[in-house]
Amino acid sequence: MSIWKKSGLILPLRTAPPTAQDDSHRKPGIEAREFITLTLLLFLILIYPVFSMLWYHQYPAVSIEAAILVILCLSIAALLSLILQFAGASVRNLALVTVLTFAFVVQFNLFFIGIISVLAAGLFLTLIFRDAFRTMLLAVMVCLIAGAWMDHQINPATKIQEAEPSAAQAGQGPVIHLLMDGFTGPDGLPAMNEAQELKQDIISLFRKNGFQIFTRAYTHYSSTMDSMTRAFNFRNDDENIWQRTSLLGEKISFPENKWFGMLADSGYNVVVNQTGSADFCSAAISTKMFCNVFSTPNLKTIHTDVKNPLTRVAVLLRTLIGQSILVSKVRRNYGVFDTWGVSMYDDRILEKLVEDLQQQPQNAYFAHVLLPHAPLVLRQDCTLDYESETWHRWPAFEGLVGNNEETRKVRYNKLIEQMRCALTRLDTFFGELRSLGIYDDATIIVHGDHGAGAFNFSPSVQNMDKTNDRDLREMFSILFAVKYPGGGSEVNDEVISLNVLMANTAARVIGSVLVESSNIVQSEDEPFIYFADSYPLKQAFVNIFHRKSDFIGEEQEEAVESASPDQ
Ligand SMILES: [Zn+2]
Repeated sequence: MSIWKKSGLILPLRTAPPTAQDDSHRKPGIEAREFITLTLLLFLILIYPVFSMLWYHQYPAVSIEAAILVILCLSIAALLSLILQFAGASVRNLALVTVLTFAFVVQFNLFFIGIISVLAAGLFLTLIFRDAFRTMLLAVMVCLIAGAWMDHQINPATKIQEAEPSAAQAGQGPVIHLLMDGFTGPDGLPAMNEAQELKQDIISLFRKNGFQIFTRAYTHYSSTMDSMTRAFNFRNDDENIWQRTSLLGEKISFPENKWFGMLADSGYNVVVNQTGSADFCSAAISTKMFCNVFSTPNLKTIHTDVKNPLTRVAVLLRTLIGQSILVSKVRRNYGVFDTWGVSMYDDRILEKLVEDLQQQPQNAYFAHVLLPHAPLVLRQDCTLDYESETWHRWPAFEGLVGNNEETRKVRYNKLIEQMRCALTRLDTFFGELRSLGIYDDATIIVHGDHGAGAFNFSPSVQNMDKTNDRDLREMFSILFAVKYPGGGSEVNDEVISLNVLMANTAARVIGSVLVESSNIVQSEDEPFIYFADSYPLKQAFVNIFHRKSDFIGEEQEEAVESASPDQ
């Protein structure tokens, strides 16, 4: 490999390996120029998505792993260019178009129709520009890379403008709404000792900080999208089922958002801290929203916490190709290119929140905190653990199968550590609000959207007969705690849904009687949970008649534990 690289890069082609010598009747100068131009062009095409990804994730571009990736791309480019020396001009152009298309696949999340369109457009351009095609492509690539670099210079966090004073804000503290993604509620935690200790610690943390905690809060839905759409709109239904119509290509977004609208109508600026995984800023509301976006996964943690640079390179490459819908689909179907499990949680979300609260304490803030959401890589003190085995980082096997009792226990312990980290972060956050002097006046809503799901079988239609009551409680139980100005802690053991809790909270925050929707409160003949079909590729609900009253107390919990299959 090194001979090829050396000969290719520095020397004219005629000194390259034996097969090249047959071409020695060509003019060597032209060959060398041809080779260098083609290598450069291929290199630019290959390196573009790499640096675009690094910049997007604010990953240090000056690092050993970035240097290795540069060398890798350069070697591939030189090798390809060397091979293409023996091909005609049209084949070379075709190869360029193909490489370019695959760079686009990784970069822009194209699916089959997109790939075919890019290929067709590329071939069309080669016909028009013929010999000038490579020159044109070179110019385009240089512009794209310069553009990607300039984009990364722009701070993704929009600066909050001076809030306009309004009557509704006079004398009011902030409204802070934290979505702790995947935080199972106290009632959903299993009987194992570590989980029961955690349950007590969750309750006492919120009591200590003046919250009302609802120990038996549940959602009816197993996905963020379904849960939060209903919570934001105080709705309880199986209508408007969200489907990932374009095979994962569609980003989760929440254009309908009654809650943000109410806050805006009462004079609050709505400031959203979100991640790359879901778009809450798409809410169509009457006031200007302010939006800070943090990329996921939190790739920077790889740079700081993985010692071996080759592992870092491998993780970056996996992340790169994992950006592609196509590759993700292949991965899901055939189990190749397995994801490595880079932390989703990013400390900057809560840090930015504190920073903004310090400057603008009268706004309403929403933050999508991807904690304790998988991958499970945080120890209970929130240090990173990338030494763990990769399968430990996912609460269940992807697809339909969850766990056997043994793997479940291993994973549950990782999950408990990450949940404890979430508690630590919340406690720190509350402390910071106290030191800013805004804690007492603040309304703080902290809740989950579905359980963390270290279940034996996921609640999908395919598993309908296999899931036990413990699986269901772990999947649908959520954290819900709220602190109003002045505080006053309370533990509420009523079985209650996220939709109702959000409606009650909104009514109290806005200070008016809510809500026209007739269907917030569920009647006894409605199903308490919905199973999704073919999770996560297609979503269609199946009503399961686990009524509210099925979601049970201790006496049943013990029966479930002893009856659960031992496999
Ligand atoms: Zn979620």
